Amino acid sequence: MRVYNFSPGPSALPLQVLERAASEMLDANGTGQSVMEMSHRSKDFMPIIEKTEALLRELMGIPANYKVLFLQGGASLQFSMVPLNLAATDVPGKGKKAAYIDTGVFADKAIKEGSKYAAVEVRASSKDKAYTYIPEAPAPSAEDAYYHITLNNTIVGTRWDKIPDTGSVPLVSDVSSCILSEPLDVSKFGILYAGAQKNLGPAGTTVVIIREDLIGHAPAWVPVMLRYDTHAAESSLYNTPPCYSIYVIGLVLEWLKNLGGAGAIAKINREKADLIYNYLETSKLFYSPVQKQFRSLMNVTFVPKEQDAEKKTEIEKRFVKEAAAAGLVNLAGHRLVGGMRASIYNAMPVDGVKALIGFMEKFEK
Ligand SMILES: *Cc1c(COP(=O)(O)O)cnc(C)c1O
Repeated sequence: MRVYNFSPGPSALPLQVLERAASEMLDANGTGQSVMEMSHRSKDFMPIIEKTEALLRELMGIPANYKVLFLQGGASLQFSMVPLNLAATDVPGKGKKAAYIDTGVFADKAIKEGSKYAAVEVRASSKDKAYTYIPEAPAPSAEDAYYHITLNNTIVGTRWDKIPDTGSVPLVSDVSSCILSEPLDVSKFGILYAGAQKNLGPAGTTVVIIREDLIGHAPAWVPVMLRYDTHAAESSLYNTPPCYSIYVIGLVLEWLKNLGGAGAIAKINREKADLIYNYLETSKLFYSPVQKQFRSLMNVTFVPKEQDAEKKTEIEKRFVKEAAAAGLVNLAGHRLVGGMRASIYNAMPVDGVKALIGFMEKFEK
């Protein structure tokens, strides 16, 4: 029996996608091979990566002056690649100025890594209130090489409700946990990056969407594999890309297109999030720790109102255990913040959310 999987990542995939991948496992497109066995430069694989890119461009409305790259190393490697390519200079350790907004654990990781290659300045932070809101984003300074934000914060469950205007300073965003969850104006950004394993497909691929004028600025000492120019010049085929992951991303994008695209999935995602948040408003046992205006559509966190620490932990443990027994898995909050977290990415059906709320009501009683 399949469960409803609320994992923050890697996450549930649409059932239709898994069935399609299974049906093509031994013989994809009449080639007599699995996609896993294909040469990445073959006439069998090329249409697969090209189709994946074309669908991503169509569904996100990516303008023609942006490159799409399929890389490896996760979103975490972009914490290094962004400063190495946009702020590093000929003198290692003497990088240009870069602005960061600290909205959570991953933003903080990007800041720490970025500080090795850029003169990072944290212009705002919500750490004072345990990252439960998005701070006001100050205007960039003219010398900033770029301005970095994390559009959806996976661990506490916050979301930027508007995109800051950074003028001519390139806006860079980690969109790992919200890519294609709702329409996004790509032209407002210099770079968007996302690990695939939350909203796009299996782990192994990192999607980078980069405006062409931002490519080609890494100093000579930056390693060949960490340069956007290397991968852009070879259309992500400088070395072996994560072929099978790229293929499944293509299937997920096809599924999303058939559903009606970003606008259609945004309506469904809003409906799912509203169902849980509205329930939490009425709950006597749980509450959402996140300020209303900034609540994530993708990662819904909730904690017991119980004040006694021991009793609180007991409620959490019992909830996670009994939910799993009811077929609702991976609901424990991140180890750093505790509580519970339901990650309800694109592939989570409305029925899964209704089943969760039904369980919460029963548990509360
Ligand atoms: C999951 C996640 C990451 C880490 O991604 P990896 O692909 O594991 O490196 C970074 N940023 C955000 C916002 C995430 O949700």
